[in-house]
This record gives sequence, structure tokens and C-alpha cells, in this order.
Amino acid sequence: MSKIKSLEIKIGLEVHCQLTNLKTKLFCSCSSDYRGKEPNTLICPICMGMPGTLPVLNEKALEDAIMVALALNSKISERMLFFRKNYFYPDMPKNFQISQYDKAGGVPFALGGYIQINGKKVRIRRIQLEEDPGKLSYDGTIESSNHTLVDYNRAGIALIEIVTEPDMETPKEARLFLEKLRSILEHLNVSDGSLEGSMRCDANISLKGGKRVEVKNISSFKEVERALNFEITRQKNLVLRGMVIGQETRHWDETRRITVSLRMKEEEQDYRYFPEPDLVPIIIPRERIKEIEQKMPELPDERRKRFIEQYNLSPQSAEILTRSKAMADFFEESVKIYGNPKEISNWMIGELSSYLNEKSIEIDELTLTSKQLVDLIKLIDEGVISRKMAKSVLQDMLLTGKMAGDIVKEKGLEKILDKEYIGSIVEKILKENPQAVKDAIFDKKAMNYLMGQLMKKTEGKIDPKMASEVLRKRLSELAKFITP
Ligand SMILES: [Zn+2]
Repeated sequence: MSKIKSLEIKIGLEVHCQLTNLKTKLFCSCSSDYRGKEPNTLICPICMGMPGTLPVLNEKALEDAIMVALALNSKISERMLFFRKNYFYPDMPKNFQISQYDKAGGVPFALGGYIQINGKKVRIRRIQLEEDPGKLSYDGTIESSNHTLVDYNRAGIALIEIVTEPDMETPKEARLFLEKLRSILEHLNVSDGSLEGSMRCDANISLKGGKRVEVKNISSFKEVERALNFEITRQKNLVLRGMVIGQETRHWDETRRITVSLRMKEEEQDYRYFPEPDLVPIIIPRERIKEIEQKMPELPDERRKRFIEQYNLSPQSAEILTRSKAMADFFEESVKIYGNPKEISNWMIGELSSYLNEKSIEIDELTLTSKQLVDLIKLIDEGVISRKMAKSVLQDMLLTGKMAGDIVKEKGLEKILDKEYIGSIVEKILKENPQAVKDAIFDKKAMNYLMGQLMKKTEGKIDPKMASEVLRKRLSELAKFITP
């Protein structure tokens, strides 16, 4: 096994993010709101590449891309060129994609930069602006289907492609990188990661001594970790059998959860890139970048630091709470309603996060609102229910969408706080356990047994602090009459 441990893993990502906050496509005025629409209805001669049509760059798309580049610490090119990437595939109505190129005189929209994850910098190689192809759908999988359907509503949607250096060493780091990227894009309000297919990813992975294997078609961030784990195991097994890993492109089959070979190196495609003759080079004025820079919203790293200072949270808590915009927003909304950030953060990081992990969902997919969580926390602070009870109430809230107060009433979970009533239960327990009473008088540890009996009798509803006070007092009174 030592042989495997020494295999140094390098992972690089190529992420495609749709700019979802645009009204129209990248080069025409077709609506970009394509999800759930009748196939092939949001198209025009421009995005279908009819002869004689001319593309016009969406200015807002360029502004959104500038914000992304600034947030990723990248250097924005002064002069930008679009290139045609030529290929024949049914998802491409024009037989070429308007994209960018880093060779043959081409300069991508932005170069360099980084994203910080857990104190580590993952370097960005380049950022490009390009159009999305159409969408192919199959009956089942690509291999089993006997027909392919194509929908061009997505063709021409604005995409940014972010390519990293191979700086990640584990599938988990790759997932953290993608989560951070999503959080940044959502804070910028340029891309909504919760929309189906808005963020897609190809990953390249190499083990020490082996060639680079590219895994294509990973449709969601959740799948990335899975696909990479599969690929690492596959490559390690090859190495163990003494085989050499050659350069290859593989396809992630989401249904079967395996990677399948698409092509080996010798079949590498030639896209015959050349500058798009229908678009002039675009000069990005430095003043415009400065203007945008000044309007930049708060980003996750800044928000994390603010959470530590403003709410007195630990760095770890602030890190978890700012991992997604939805999480950070939920936290701040809750604090606004009820100023107990410590308790709110504890519940979100503890119970809520484990529920989200278990169900593999995001916080904004819950019916639970920040007001509902706060109501639950208030019930604990007011001493109506115990912390332990509150955990089961929260589970009920998540399942039924009911308010905490209603669940507590329905199930009769209120804590027993009536001193007289507590006294009467204590008497009952003392009568039922004469030997334990004797033991408890001379050995303080035996008192725990009686406390346990009290909890059991009241199904955990008795207030432990009050109960132990009453019990202690009664035992000290009884001690006068009993000799060892
Ligand atoms: Zn169009």
C-alpha cells in the first residue's frame, strides 16, 4: 500500500458557469430564461447561425465577467478577441462556438488569479467568455438511447469558463474550491448555482508518473467529488497492476457512477480556431474596470472576517457559515430577528448542517425559515423546553414545516417548572427508592440515580436544575433522621 500513498495526486478543474442574471443571450436578444420552456422556442437567426446575421456582444455579460475576474484576483486583458471554435456536433447549430483562445494571437478575457480554500491558494489559469451550446437529451443513457433530442433554447447563453492550475490534491479540495467559487458568484449576484445545469465541470487528474486524464460531463458540484474518487481508485488499480496511465478523455456516467473512455490522446480534436470575423476586438477601458471595482459587493472572505468581528464567532464557525451565500444570509436574517448569534450559529452548524448533509440538500431548499429557527431558540432561552427536547422538535419542524410552539403544545413537551409539582414528584421517587435514598445521603454519586429516575418519570420534561435543587434539599433534611 505504501506504493499507493506515494502517488501524488494533482487535480485541475475547468468550470463552466452560466451568467444567469442576464435577460438575454450573449450575442442576440433571445430570452435567457430557458428553463422549463417549450424546446426550440427561444431561438433566432443569430443564435442559429443563419448566413448574413451578425452577433452583438451583451454589455451586461461583459460587466458581470469583469466582476468575476476582479473577485478571483485575475488580470483583465485590455484588448479582447473572440475566436471561433469549430466542431460538428448536434448541440451546435452553427457548427462553431464563439469562444476565446490563448494561442494564435488570442488573449482570453482574464489571466491568472486565485481562490483561497482553507488557507491554500488554488491558482486560476484563465477566464474566458463564451456561448453555451444547445442541450441534447437521451432516452436513458447516451449508450442505451436509440434516439437523441436537441433543444437549442440554451444555445447562445452566456458562459464564463474558469480554468484552474492543477493545484488541488484531493477530491474534497476540488469540492471546496467549487463551493467557494459558487459562493463568490452568488455574492456577486451573477450566477445562481441552484439552477439546474448552471454550473458544470470537467476535471483533469493525474497521478505521479501517469499522464493527465480528463473527465468530462460532470453536471453538478456534488458529482465532482464522486467522479474524482472513482477515477483515483481506477488509476491506482492500473498502477498496482503495473500499467501505465496514458492521456485520455473520459465521460462521467452519472447513472452508473463510473467513468467511461471517450478518446485516447491520438484522437485529440483539432478545433481549427480562428478569430471571429463578425466581432471586432473589444477594448476594455481601465476606468470602466475601476468603476465596477468600486461597486463590488461584499465577498465571502470579507463576510467571513466580518462575522468573526461583528458576531464574535470562531474562525471555523464563520468559515462554515459563509461557505454558501444562502447559509450566510439565513444566519444574518436570524440574527436580525433575534440577537443571539452564538446560539443561532450553534444550531445552524450542528443540527441543521447534519440534516442538510444527510439529505444532500442546500439550506434554501428547506421550508424552514430563519423566523422558525429563532422561535425554537427562544423557547430554549425562555426555559419552556430543554435543549434535548429542542433537537427533536427541530426534526419535526423540518419534516412537517410546523412552528416550534405548535409542536411543543401538541406533544405536551413543555418543561416542568412548577416548584410545588416538582416537589411532589421528588417525594414519589424517594418513596419508591428507599435504598437509593440511603445511598444518596452518604454517597453524593448515588444521587445521579435518583435524578435519572426523575427524568424517566417525567419523560425528560422536568427542569434538571430545579429538580436537583429540590432533591438535594430533601436529602439533606432526611439525613438528620437516618444514621449510616
Ligand atoms: Zn437568438
